[in-house]
Amino acid sequence: MLFKVFPEAELTRLFELLAKDRIVGPVKKGEDQQGRPLYDFDVVHDLADLHLDYTQTIHSAKNYFLPYREDLCTFTFQNDDWQKEVDYGVYAPLVLLGLHPCDINALNKLDKVLLGGRYPNPFYGEKRGNMFIVGHSCTPQPFCFCQSMGTDSAIRGFDLFLTRMGDLYFAEILSPRALHLLEQIDCCDPDSSEHRRYLDLMEERESLFVAHVDTSDLTKILDLEFQSPVWQEWGQKCLSCGTCAQVCPTCYCYGVTEQVDMDFSRAWKEKQLYSCNLLDFASVAGSHNFRPESHTRIKYRYYHKHRGFVEAFEESLCVGCGRCGQACLARITVPEVIASVRAGKE
Ligand code: SF4
Ligand code: SF4
Repeated sequence: MLFKVFPEAELTRLFELLAKDRIVGPVKKGEDQQGRPLYDFDVVHDLADLHLDYTQTIHSAKNYFLPYREDLCTFTFQNDDWQKEVDYGVYAPLVLLGLHPCDINALNKLDKVLLGGRYPNPFYGEKRGNMFIVGHSCTPQPFCFCQSMGTDSAIRGFDLFLTRMGDLYFAEILSPRALHLLEQIDCCDPDSSEHRRYLDLMEERESLFVAHVDTSDLTKILDLEFQSPVWQEWGQKCLSCGTCAQVCPTCYCYGVTEQVDMDFSRAWKEKQLYSCNLLDFASVAGSHNFRPESHTRIKYRYYHKHRGFVEAFEESLCVGCGRCGQACLARITVPEVIASVRAGKE
């Protein structure tokens, strides 16, 4: 990894260079009831609209590489036959600007499943290959527990990572393209005092985390507590709305439907992200639903993230961003659920 520092004022030039491609970054979308700003990822045309000092976005950036809805293929009836067309939906290079470490680590996890498995997903792969990722440091929020999940810093999965140090940016460089980009702005190698300043800043940040999850022996505890009444209690609270999966940067479950136009001239196969908490998630042919109760669905969401994925990839599928707890109308949070399973009571 290479390091550079550049003055804050050079961010304008960096943005201009990146703006040759489509930029998606954190923008302000309004305020909550307490007057605190709400942020989300969106296309950014003007540096003034970019809020690199954002707290947390409501949704992750996954819609840009794992859309909520996409056509897998379309068929048109021409010349007495069906013509199939596949469009990966990649039209222009994309810059994801300002991803926090948790969201970069979420991408790394998705890569393992969607690119590294036996059946790589070409739709995802094409979009990932078309992305330039610029990370940005963050200030831990009261609901962030990424430190517990080991995802509070990123060492791969980005091209460039920026940390604000007063009137300077400390840049971590992982790709030749990122180095080439920085060579076009006024930057230099950091000296030893800047190394120290950066390390002190990292140390201070580590002390700011307040939310924690005890993950020690968690897979074993989940196995032991599979029949725990705690799951019934969380199931009674859960509204089965699926919001948690929509905002989650690592949820990738989906459903596929096939549809035909009324005049049989066109048909298409549509993929839609889904949530394992939705009532019909486990509905199969013959109207059988093998997870009709909400407590079984919420339980399996946790077992996928913290049990099955660990067994398959030796890491959890949760990055501790806290978005699901923030978005949940029933106020169900990962730290509380895990703590209750460990304690055997809510
Ligand atoms: S957001 Fe909350 S209420 Fe809705 S499905 Fe998820 S856990 Fe249940
Ligand atoms: S489960 Fe919740 S805390 Fe974990 S990655 Fe998903 S949204 Fe973030």
